[in-house]
Amino acid sequence: MSRVVPRPEDLAAAAEVVATLTTDEKVALLSGASFWETVGVEHAGIAPVVLTDGPHGVRRQAGDADHLGINDALPATAFPTAAATGSSWDPALLSEIGAALAVEARALGVDVLLGPGVNIKRHPLCGRNFEYFSEDPRLSGALGAAWVRGLQDNGVAACVKHFAANNQETNRMRVSAEVDERTLREIYLPAFETVVEAGVATVMCAYNALNGTPTAHHPWLLTAVLREEWGFSGAVVSDWGAVTDPAASAAAGLDLEMPGTAGASAERLLAALADGTLAETELDRAAAAVVALVQRAAAARAAAGEVTVDFDAHHALARRAAADSAVLLTNDGILPLDPSAAQRLALIGPFARTPRYQGAGSSHINPPRVDDPVVEIETLLAARGGGTQVCHDDGSDVGAAVALAEASDTVVLFLGLPAAEESEGFDRTHLDLPADQLALLAAVAAVNPRVVVVLGNGGAVLTAPVEQHANAVLETWLGGQAVGGAIADVLFGVREPGGRLAETVPLALTDTPAYVNFPGTATHVHYGERVYVGYRWYDRVERAVAHPFGHGLGYTTWAYADLTVAVPDPTVAAATVSVTVTNTGEREGSEVVQVYLSDLAASVDRPVRELVGFAKVRLAPGESERVEIALDERAFAFWDATAGQWAVEPGAFRVEVGSSSRALPMSVELELDVPRVLGPLTLDSPMGEWLERPGAMDVMLGLFSSAIGDDVAMPELDESLLAMVASMPLRQVLTMAGAVPDPATEAAALARLESTR
Ligand code: BGC
Repeated sequence: MSRVVPRPEDLAAAAEVVATLTTDEKVALLSGASFWETVGVEHAGIAPVVLTDGPHGVRRQAGDADHLGINDALPATAFPTAAATGSSWDPALLSEIGAALAVEARALGVDVLLGPGVNIKRHPLCGRNFEYFSEDPRLSGALGAAWVRGLQDNGVAACVKHFAANNQETNRMRVSAEVDERTLREIYLPAFETVVEAGVATVMCAYNALNGTPTAHHPWLLTAVLREEWGFSGAVVSDWGAVTDPAASAAAGLDLEMPGTAGASAERLLAALADGTLAETELDRAAAAVVALVQRAAAARAAAGEVTVDFDAHHALARRAAADSAVLLTNDGILPLDPSAAQRLALIGPFARTPRYQGAGSSHINPPRVDDPVVEIETLLAARGGGTQVCHDDGSDVGAAVALAEASDTVVLFLGLPAAEESEGFDRTHLDLPADQLALLAAVAAVNPRVVVVLGNGGAVLTAPVEQHANAVLETWLGGQAVGGAIADVLFGVREPGGRLAETVPLALTDTPAYVNFPGTATHVHYGERVYVGYRWYDRVERAVAHPFGHGLGYTTWAYADLTVAVPDPTVAAATVSVTVTNTGEREGSEVVQVYLSDLAASVDRPVRELVGFAKVRLAPGESERVEIALDERAFAFWDATAGQWAVEPGAFRVEVGSSSRALPMSVELELDVPRVLGPLTLDSPMGEWLERPGAMDVMLGLFSSAIGDDVAMPELDESLLAMVASMPLRQVLTMAGAVPDPATEAAALARLESTR
């Protein structure tokens, strides 16, 4: 087990160290010593630890510190951003990147790397979507957990962020996300839960409030859910500057406020101890969590010893990852280009030499090198020895670009979002590519029939206006420092485009799920679309999209056959989905086999289908693989708001398998005979629930009888009468019948009911 994975017994050992500290020393531990370091206490053997951003590279600042990526950092590999790696659907790749990041972090003296970001892409306009994986919680959780394992298995602690419901940048420091519990449980919390299960060392709270309480001092989030339900025994860290009331934060379950406040927070904690608003036990708990983190980090540091970074190997990994994350949205057969063809190839556009490869803000990396796509394409072609002649034009003069396009056999046009349009700290206002880029594309396409568009953007853009003029569109997201090389590889078929959309590409901004509820007012944003986020929304409202969740083309073709779903015991919600996948094309390739589940007999509204499992397979031409995907209980469950727990209902479910949420050639139904979850029944429960519950009828009739003083029998109710009374709370029915029970009778009836469960 990795040294940095938190264990409950470490907290007990740390508590013994805390017992040797003075109160002043304890309060000092609860906030940073500086922008990136924690406080040390020499006599107790507590050495400071270094935390730094994250998530797609190590932003270790040697000089002036900031949390907005303004000042320089030491050189470190800029791996593809999460928008890209989210599209890889490849946990193994995320673990490889995590492991490489651990080496760089260790070499730069970093103990805790601030990532992964597993917030859900609620709206494509969120300025920070490039730092998040997906609109789907299961995919986000699987990829985040894999990244954490790769990092932590190599001795560096991770810090999953931003907990929770931080899904926009507008007013991020003062807005309250108003989210019902079912939506939180099904959409916004599960990825964090999966990462906690994977053993993440630390959790970072968000800036925003959740249902009125800042997440930096939200006891339900930081203690009831995170620690008591999920069993987290690591440290909770604040987002930088998120703490406004250190005592309330410590009492709610936050352990470490970052950055340091030059003693101001310690003073406030002492005052809170003195006036009783903070208990000594709460201070001790937080101090022990910090000490346990520090001790584990020290052990990991000692075990690692000296490390050296192989930047070339990391560049090669970044290049492979960028290709495996690039999503080929459309292709009429023009790709891959033939590297040995004698042709004139025009590389046009603003990003042909200077690709966008990372986003702005706290994740901003200072990479040792960045690939130039033109150079990479020239190098690749030179190595292949073909007759292709490459010309380049930056597209700033449309006339010159059109002349070049006209004189060329094939054009690759590099388009994308300008850097100034997307960043941490603010949201986008539209989904369009710049008008001048679209005009350039139209002009080029008017004179050349072979146009490939390569896109570079962190958040989704409307692609339909591009596709009408292009023979192929390759979405590379913000693909890291080696994206230029990856583009060369993919264009010429050295590697397949391995990405599949981790978010839906809509046809219009007005189609998006949170359109009327984003970004809310200065202080409130209402998550009115509830669980219908991403494809869950588009499927529910049967809306056409530009490209569905899960979509992406490769260079080969696939066939699915023999879908079976094994349910070993229908009284238990668990199944194994098996399907045979065959590479029916001429080239090696990868396919993301996606499994979706629909609850056909739900008592509550549920999404039409939800992703419940996936596997990425890589096969040679003609090769087949029997893919097995296990469905756990959670795959079948919804959050039952009345019962306050996960519930699986008996009845029919449909399993669909295929290559995107809207390309599901195979399906099978299964039947579960699980016991129904029964929520608490009270006099305020509707008659329908009373009539359904075994044993409840007698109790109900007893209530009528005891008030009326006579034996009451259940009258014959036809279907429409039953339907009419079904939603009426029993208390109202009793009231109207003049049978209001006194408190003692009510309590006795409920006790009798409980005994029938
Ligand atoms: C960001 C965090 C980041 C922190 C430190 C904050 O502004 O929200 O994601 O880790 O700064 O730079």
